[in-house]
Amino acid sequence: MKVVVEVVEMKRVFVIGLDALSPKLAERFAKDGTCPNFKRIMDNGCFSKALSAVPAQTPENWTTIATGSWPGTHGIATWGRHSYGEPVTEIHGDEAMSSNLCKAEYLWEAAARQGLKSVLHYFVGYPPTTDMTIHVDWFWRPGIFYFEICSNACYVSDALAVDVKGNSKTTLIPIKFREAEGWVNVPKVYSPPLETEIKVLPNVGGRGVSYYALLLDVDGCGYQMCLLSKDKDCSKALCTLKEGEWSGWFRETFVVEGEDKVGTVRFKLVELSRDGGKFKLYRSQVYPVSGFTHPPKVAERLVERFGPYINDAVSWTFFRGLVDEQTFIEEFEYQIRWIADAAGYLMNKGASLYMMHWHLLDTLEHRILGSVDPVGGKYNSEKAEEAWRILRLGYRIADELVGEFLKYLDEETYLIVVSDHGSMPQRKRYSIVKALADRGLVEVEEHKGTKRVNWAKSKIFISLTNVYVNLKSKYKGGVVEDSEYENVRREVIDVLRSCKDQYGDYVIAFALRREDAPMIGLWGEHVGDVVFAYSPAFAWGHVDFLNEGSTIIGGASHGPMIPTAETEISSNYATFMMIGKNVKKGYVRPVDMMGPVQLVDVAPTVSYILGIEPPKHCQGRVLYDFFEGWDISEMKREQRPLRFPVKRPLVGDVTDRELSKDAVPP
Ligand SMILES: [Zn+2]
Repeated sequence: MKVVVEVVEMKRVFVIGLDALSPKLAERFAKDGTCPNFKRIMDNGCFSKALSAVPAQTPENWTTIATGSWPGTHGIATWGRHSYGEPVTEIHGDEAMSSNLCKAEYLWEAAARQGLKSVLHYFVGYPPTTDMTIHVDWFWRPGIFYFEICSNACYVSDALAVDVKGNSKTTLIPIKFREAEGWVNVPKVYSPPLETEIKVLPNVGGRGVSYYALLLDVDGCGYQMCLLSKDKDCSKALCTLKEGEWSGWFRETFVVEGEDKVGTVRFKLVELSRDGGKFKLYRSQVYPVSGFTHPPKVAERLVERFGPYINDAVSWTFFRGLVDEQTFIEEFEYQIRWIADAAGYLMNKGASLYMMHWHLLDTLEHRILGSVDPVGGKYNSEKAEEAWRILRLGYRIADELVGEFLKYLDEETYLIVVSDHGSMPQRKRYSIVKALADRGLVEVEEHKGTKRVNWAKSKIFISLTNVYVNLKSKYKGGVVEDSEYENVRREVIDVLRSCKDQYGDYVIAFALRREDAPMIGLWGEHVGDVVFAYSPAFAWGHVDFLNEGSTIIGGASHGPMIPTAETEISSNYATFMMIGKNVKKGYVRPVDMMGPVQLVDVAPTVSYILGIEPPKHCQGRVLYDFFEGWDISEMKREQRPLRFPVKRPLVGDVTDRELSKDAVPP
């Protein structure tokens, strides 16, 4: 008997999650040549702005992307999950991105249920819930890394340390050089060698490693070489660095919480003045060589193949002026190549779905956007050009990352670039807490000479854009009787809707009862009794309760403001781009006709490409209009005459009219 085996090529989707990628900036930088890979996708694929769920924050929206369901359903309606039966102030913030809190099925769980394997990189959804999914790293909290042993840092000599203020101890490590003693096998030198110790200590304490750094003058023109060694023996040096050079990676054993952990570290000599007075040595982030993946063994294979892994490339040391732009570029280029190479390798082992998250643009926009956008409260036109340059640099790296993935594009492989929200400049902060305290809704107390809110004793608790009434019947330690519930809510809504500052601007864009919130995707016990969002350019106002009226501030954010907030330069909308076979070329969704993409649409669209059912709780729809052959032009119907028996103007709706005319007879 002849057996016919039908070979069906498996479809694959790479979802590149770029936190805070703004549609307006993506378009601008695609047009001006900064982002050629974004342009390639826009020209040969599709582009749209995308609507985030409220609040336009990170955990809520990555979970929305991952499940295709609204926060009312997946339960992450704040930075964590708020539940009955616990103290009203408990939101489980550390678990915001974890599978422990998410009540909806993830896309990769749906894929696994239907026999498809997935790979997640630095994504939500850890701890693992299926063996069909490989997790590489986990997106726990922005700027803090779940598996990290030591954060990146810069060792700076005294002369430089005075120039760099505002650096935390872990980022900036001051060192002092002294005349070297007890060294052997020292090469011929023209000045007395200088030495110091470079200690690499785990963030949470424990035992680290220590190197000697020795500065050498080998040509009689001053110190131009830095040698790193475990012993005072130049013949055993691990590396000899000139300014601008990187060491190799050193594999070291650290003791963290009583356990041995093997991690990797490398250094770059960023600056060395000839007199030895100015010295900056950058230290990469120390990540373990195993265990940062599920299954744990995958990590070792990846490190063996692609070198040590880093999650946090220079970022903070760059923003604090400790390392230069070149170091920023070099670290990120190392990181993005690692991510893309590991993705290709793991996906080639029969996986269909890849989802990743990358955070640089969010970090950058929080710091820079208020300086490039004239709406920003601290905007200064003289500093704008430099801010634009830095912002462009970040977008260039993001574009390079996408470019690394474009090489996987083929007949069966699709690429989606998506963000969780955009970013907006801040202009004002208005204390809604003060307004609420004035009405007795929050308790203010003295603490060490300053005033602060005692939320546990207050009638309400604010978590981002949710207001929870602290009911005795629902929360441990609650203070409000059920009979007071409606009064408290009415008061809260009244205060929020009345907040108007000295410039005549309303602070709050909307404040709704929980029952009215389904129209913005919010329902269920985890959502506030009142939900609200701030007007464009307003910062969080529940932290600064002393001020009367608005204070002009700088910076940028996304979470407080309505997801539709925009200026000429900035947008709080998220971004969606897609390229692949049968995807329309150069299509920009006509938002006036179809509305923006919604982040709940990502999971069903990926499911459609893969030929699987979407996740169980998915509420989004397939973006059919992004595919060839789907026509969304307005329906042109023959206009057929209608005959109305009576012609009269319509006031309100018909029922209003009829009721007022034919009132119940006396
Ligand atoms: Zn985010």
